[in-house]
Amino acid sequence: MKNLESLIKTYNDFPREGIAFKDILGIIQDTEVFRDLILKMSSNKVIKSSEAIISIEARGFIFGSAISLQASKPMIVARKPGKLPGELINENYLLEYGQSCLSIQKESLDKFSSYAIVDDLLATGGTVECVANLIRKSGKDVCGLVTVVELEKLGGRSLFDFPVESMINL
Ligand code: AMP
Repeated sequence: MKNLESLIKTYNDFPREGIAFKDILGIIQDTEVFRDLILKMSSNKVIKSSEAIISIEARGFIFGSAISLQASKPMIVARKPGKLPGELINENYLLEYGQSCLSIQKESLDKFSSYAIVDDLLATGGTVECVANLIRKSGKDVCGLVTVVELEKLGGRSLFDFPVESMINL
C-alpha cells in the first residue's frame, strides 16, 4: 500500500536485544494514509463475513475501533490480565520469553456467532492463536485475521486454518 511502509519505523533491539520492533504509530499521524488503510481493511472479505470484530490490546484497538465504525460491526476486546471487570474467559499463550494471558468478557461473546480478529502486527502468531482459541472454546466461529503488518519470515500464518489478510508484508 502506497506510503504505508515509509510510515513504519524499525527500532532494533527493542524491547529486547534481537527484536526488530516495527513502530506503526506513524500511520495514525498521517490522516490520509490512515483513512485509506481503514477503508481497505474495512472492506476486506474477512470483516464483511463476520458479525463482529475482536481487537487485541493495545495497538489492535486503534485499528479495530476505526474499522468497527467504518464497517458498522460491533467491536469487542481481548485484554491483558487485570484490565477487564466481570466474568471472563481466559487463555494463556507463549511469548518468545515466558507466558502471557488474554481475557474476554464472557457476556460480550453471547450476542454474535462469528468474529474477525483485528491486530496491528502478526509476528509468530501466538497472540492471534490465543484469541482464536478463546473464540472457539466459546463455541463461536473465527472468520479470519485482518492485520496491518505481517512479518512474513516468522511464518505466523502457518498456525492458522483461517484466512490471514495483511496490508503489508515486512
Ligand atoms: P506474535 O504473538 O508473536 O504474533 O506477536 C504479535 C503481537 O506482539 C502484536 O500484538 C504486536 O503488537 C506485538 N509484536 C510482536 N513482534 C513485534 C515487532 N517486531 N514489532 C512490533 N510489535 C510486535
